[in-house]
Amino acid sequence: MNTLSPRTEIATLGEFGLIDRLTHGITPRHDTTILGIGDDAAAIRHSADRLTLVTTDLLLEGVHFDLTYTPLKHLGYKTAVVNFSDIYAMNGRPTQLLVALGLSKRFAVEDIEAIYDGIRHACDVYGVDLVGGDTSASLTGLTLSATCIGDVPSDRIVRRDGAHDTDLICVSGDLGAAYMGLQLLEREKRVFRGESDFAPDFAGREYLLERQLRPEARRDIVESLASADLLPTAMIDISDGLASELLHIAARSHVGCRIYEDRLPIDYQTAVMAEEFNMNLATAALNGGDDHELLFTLPLSVYDRAERLPGVRIIGHITRPELGCILVGRDGGEVPLQAQGWQGR
Ligand code: ADP
Ligand code: MG
Repeated sequence: MNTLSPRTEIATLGEFGLIDRLTHGITPRHDTTILGIGDDAAAIRHSADRLTLVTTDLLLEGVHFDLTYTPLKHLGYKTAVVNFSDIYAMNGRPTQLLVALGLSKRFAVEDIEAIYDGIRHACDVYGVDLVGGDTSASLTGLTLSATCIGDVPSDRIVRRDGAHDTDLICVSGDLGAAYMGLQLLEREKRVFRGESDFAPDFAGREYLLERQLRPEARRDIVESLASADLLPTAMIDISDGLASELLHIAARSHVGCRIYEDRLPIDYQTAVMAEEFNMNLATAALNGGDDHELLFTLPLSVYDRAERLPGVRIIGHITRPELGCILVGRDGGEVPLQAQGWQGR
């Protein structure tokens, strides 16, 4: 490294600032590139009426997962599913998966087979073909990278940039459980570190652990939107926390938003755990990552049908951009919505 040239710490830009800086000014050369950087997946046109979707995700040991408490089979399943989730977020259907592995000597063949059991199972459940990848030795740790290909009819693609003033803001499932699951696993790890008969009691907390270790992608939501003949104006999957994802939709769509704390969907176990950890429940729901739920907007005119969607909650509405992005608290107080994503560890 040249000591005379300026050095900017990654943390000063954060993840999204870094991506912006790296990809600034990149414009598509091909008219087959319908959508490039900036959404949950890129969209490519290979036929008149369908678009191909592509997305990739990287999971690193010690950053995204800790093998002290992550079963390898679950890790494989999660690697596949988080990619499927980005395809569903475009209102698409995942069709093919490629998986690249970096393996240190610490892992035996049986370990990698366990990861692949999980990947295969996810492909069976979601109807996806594993079509390739890459395998390499790594000096330390385990690296998993997956690329998913999917497709969507051209007139059904849903991007992040289509939300309009007065649209309803909807979210599937419940929020914050995966984050509380992670807190629980980290606590047990600290308490029992070094003890060979490590047998933490997770009774009654299974849902939180499952949400963290073995998430699902919301294919069912994409299907129920289609069967209700509803097309969201914008959609994103919640991987970094609701607040961060909603701010992405707002920024891309050039709108503001208002969501209501008392409308946030939160599971009972999440609430109990937050209390035990003395954590603010709304913060866990807004900023806890790894939920893999879908956040989408629908026109106000379909309110009745939106309300009847199973497993979906209306949490607020889109506003004009000058009104900003606001969280309305239980007491009616208003605070600006803030993201607390990855900051370049
Ligand atoms: P997601 O959370 O949906 O996986 P990210 O937040 O990781 O999406 O990325 C946001 C956008 O930036 C995506 O369109 C992604 O393809 C793009 N992106 C992320 N990292 C890079 C990179 N290193 N080079 C080019 N594009 C990137
Ligand atoms: Mg995404």
